Amino acid sequence: MYIVMISSECAPVAKVGGLADVVSGLSRELEIRGNAVEIILPKYDCMRYDQIWGLQVTYQDLWVPWFNGAIHCSVWFGFVHGRKCFFIDPHSGDNFFNRGAYYGFTDEALRMAFFTKAALEFMLKTNKRPDVIHSHDWQTALTPVLLFEIYKYHGMANQRVCHTIHNFKHQGVAGENILWATGLGRPDYYYAKDRLGDDFNHQAINFTKGGIVYSNFVTTVSPHHAWEVLNTDMGYGLGHTLYLHRNKFGGVLNGLDYDTWNPEIDRYIPHHYNVNDLEGKYRDKEALRHRLLLRQEYKPLIAYVGRLDYQKGVHLIRHALFYSIWNGAQFVLLGSSPEGGINDYFWHLKHYLNDNPDCHLEIGFDEELAHLIYAGADMIVAPSMFEPCGLIQMIAMRYGTVPIVRAVGGFVDTVFDKDYSDRPEEERNGFVFNNPDYQGIESAMSRAIGLWNLYPLEFKKLVLNGMRHDFSWNRPGQDYLNIYEYIRA
Ligand code: ADP
Repeated sequence: MYIVMISSECAPVAKVGGLADVVSGLSRELEIRGNAVEIILPKYDCMRYDQIWGLQVTYQDLWVPWFNGAIHCSVWFGFVHGRKCFFIDPHSGDNFFNRGAYYGFTDEALRMAFFTKAALEFMLKTNKRPDVIHSHDWQTALTPVLLFEIYKYHGMANQRVCHTIHNFKHQGVAGENILWATGLGRPDYYYAKDRLGDDFNHQAINFTKGGIVYSNFVTTVSPHHAWEVLNTDMGYGLGHTLYLHRNKFGGVLNGLDYDTWNPEIDRYIPHHYNVNDLEGKYRDKEALRHRLLLRQEYKPLIAYVGRLDYQKGVHLIRHALFYSIWNGAQFVLLGSSPEGGINDYFWHLKHYLNDNPDCHLEIGFDEELAHLIYAGADMIVAPSMFEPCGLIQMIAMRYGTVPIVRAVGGFVDTVFDKDYSDRPEEERNGFVFNNPDYQGIESAMSRAIGLWNLYPLEFKKLVLNGMRHDFSWNRPGQDYLNIYEYIRA
């Protein structure tokens, strides 16, 4: 099968979060299974160019219709860890992708609508006719709308779209200008509530809603989150639309790219290890402490890696840090926030705790350090308010690091409590709590720290159970292929 991914992120070249990992990991799996996969991305100035091989212009004069004129683009081609990637590079005063950051601009909807339009225009002009186009999140949710309202009539009538929603909180709500810019026009038609009309803002279109209504199939990133968005308020207002389209909606658990996340070969960690020999993990803990200037003492090391925002339960992450230090553990945090206030707060905390030999805060994005933390830590905390899938717990388990998570979204599908799960003992792999408050997280952390201190052999069982579980793309890859086959028919 021939599949084209249209995405605003792809690991490791343009990565903000899990979306990037999913696009690269799933593409790799699909290729291994004999499919042809291409990925279309914006050409950001801030990408990791050191991760692209053979970058060169492949299509010189792509004119993308935009408002009443057209924007001239070059399209670049390069390999990212073996994946075939095309990068859209517009030459216009808007300077859409040369701003030193991936996201966070006032014209975000316009930038991403342009990218989506350019990706389709590129496929049209270069005669790319994939069996399936797979779009991701609000940024590219206009893909099926543009395909079935415009490009279908220009020779792309046989293409099918699978759209994956990685995060319902961000939906892409914008005004009429998007319709005029992309050539869709006809505001009255698109504002209809059964098309793109946002249910809460009159005279606004909702990209994600368009993705749901127009796609041939819609997925979110775990079965439990699929249930949550249909049955609770976690759909952020899209529950009803999903309900109407429930026959083409489902949850597919994300996988992990086992090439990237593998403690046996990981080039970012100094000591390698596997489920039969954990010596390397203990030495990575020493190396991590050494790098972050933590004292070498017989204590558990607890970590957090990820974005610092409401979704991730920032107040509970902060509490986990203090709870760890107060209860004889060490804590390492790696993260950053797009919100200035949260970043400032964690910088303040970093200075406040600067001389504490039992904790370290690293504010920023650091792929290499993240690998060392996953390898060197004993436990990882993830007290999310909502979590569509979550990769951090799966990566942690792959590296023998025991997750302490809240029972939401993908965590429910992947982490099984040591004491309270109804799963057999050999599947239990972490600690789970329910209430998003201090007592909730403490109830799980105290059990985890207690087990580490008093029953190390029991703790090791959790480590090994996590490492043995298959979190690869093997099964989800097949699930996506089944969906592609289904919509192609
Ligand atoms: P998200 O909601 O951000 O997609 P996930 O748990 O699904 O959360 O995926 C997060 C991914 O981003 C993981 O690969 C994680 O290691 C990585 N990550 C997040 N923040 C950072 C950071 N500050 N430095 C390095 N890697 C990070």
